[in-house]
Amino acid sequence: MAMSEVRTPSWLDESKESFAARLEELAVSAGVARASALATAWSGSLRRWIFERGVLEPERMSDLPLALREALRTAQPPLLATREIERREAPDGTVKLLLELADGERVETVNMPGSSGPTLCISTQVGCAVGCLFCASGLAGLRRNLTSGEILEQFVRGNALRPIRRAVVMGIGEPSMNLESTLRALDAVHAPDGLDLGVRKITISTIGFPAKIARLAEHPHRYQLAVSLHAADQGLRDQLVPLARTVRLEDLHAALRAYFERTGREITLEYVLLRGVNDSAAQAQDLARWMKGLRATVNLIPFNPVDEAPFRRPRREDVDAFASALERAGVTATVRWSKGVEGDAACGQLRVRAEKRAEPAPGTEKESC
Ligand code: SF4
Repeated sequence: MAMSEVRTPSWLDESKESFAARLEELAVSAGVARASALATAWSGSLRRWIFERGVLEPERMSDLPLALREALRTAQPPLLATREIERREAPDGTVKLLLELADGERVETVNMPGSSGPTLCISTQVGCAVGCLFCASGLAGLRRNLTSGEILEQFVRGNALRPIRRAVVMGIGEPSMNLESTLRALDAVHAPDGLDLGVRKITISTIGFPAKIARLAEHPHRYQLAVSLHAADQGLRDQLVPLARTVRLEDLHAALRAYFERTGREITLEYVLLRGVNDSAAQAQDLARWMKGLRATVNLIPFNPVDEAPFRRPRREDVDAFASALERAGVTATVRWSKGVEGDAACGQLRVRAEKRAEPAPGTEKESC
């Protein structure tokens, strides 16, 4: 399917000034007294309810005039363009939200507890063109980019569940293929009158197109960079991460070196361990060799089985041996066992499963990706 464009679907796509102008227009048309004089103050108050207090229902915004609250409730375009259609909570406190967008597409966002406070994982696209063989979202292909407002709404809704301390752009989609909207949303999250999250608390994860890494190095706000590597061997990486065929590993290495020189920021390399595919000690040594000259640490992620993926979770002893081989080679590595193997824990699974439930009966027509 050709990638569709979406017209501005929510107020959060607007700049702060346009947001205030939209509020004034709404208040005037609803006949709210002193609308023009008070619109800027109401706009600030409305944004505080949304960002600081996590209150998203206009009827609860008690310092706004009643008539304005009522007008906000039925505003077109709506104040928020996403709708929560499913919420799942794992025993460890991880909460996944499945959100429906104005055009019926769906994305998910995940609020995870952690020792340094809750972390939110957000999506940047509906589906993904990268096609990683171990990822449910990649199997479905790309439908469209999210607007900055749709990305920002995930933050707002995720933060309303439980105030977040960190954010990772590691949900559905390849952020560097929707980079300007992603950065616009992150800048709003980072702003003092947004969620006020520090740049070191926000991580963008990408497969590493060199030109986009250079773009990130020039961005005024230096968010943390994580690169999904998954193999230090070009042939294997090309198979596991099909779109990475367009990225030569030596070019990626050069781009990451340049990024560090420009920003002084250490990089994280993400490496999903797949049993019998990329989890041998010899492959750990290859990875350590490839990393020579980089200021980077490694995040090892034992694969979390998804229904359709032809891979298995690695054995614990192989994960330990992989991490030890890296450490012996002087590379700092952490292992991130994801929780809730049984409960839709892998990236994109909640959306994929919800869509399966909505699939037409065999023989009826279904839109393809
Ligand atoms: S793992 Fe990330 S980059 Fe790969 S297909 Fe899934 S969403 Fe896309």
